[in-house]
Amino acid sequence: MTQVKCHVNTCTHWLSGQCGAGNIDILNETEIMPRSSEDTECKTFHRKEGITSYISSMDNVNWSGMASTLTGGDMNPTITCVVDTCHYWGQNDECHADAIEVSGSDAEHSQDTNCGTFKPKGVEE
Ligand code: SF4
Ligand code: SF4
Repeated sequence: MTQVKCHVNTCTHWLSGQCGAGNIDILNETEIMPRSSEDTECKTFHRKEGITSYISSMDNVNWSGMASTLTGGDMNPTITCVVDTCHYWGQNDECHADAIEVSGSDAEHSQDTNCGTFKPKGVEE
């Protein structure tokens, strides 16, 4: 499973650098196919705005991942990514990177977040 590290401290799913969501959706930020990480976003971003924002994001929580952290395990969401111009993109909208880093500290909207691991297809490791 791809590890997810996240810097988006304003998201209800953010837990000290990890993501507590069950699944995250990484999308193209505009109709233009992404050429850099700034052209991508984590659509699952849900801005912290009091207790009601946490309640409304509870339908997408990785409960088993949270339980596994109690015994030293990892808590990583599954990833659905439609950014098919990325080197790590695979069929069925899978991400084949070992780990991704989502950037956008202090984000107010999902457009302020990026998949920082995006790499254009054709670029060598
Ligand atoms: S911005 Fe995305 S990756 Fe980061 S905590 Fe929120 S849902 Fe998870
Ligand atoms: S590394 Fe590429 S394939 Fe993986 S989530 Fe980010 S943009 Fe999508």
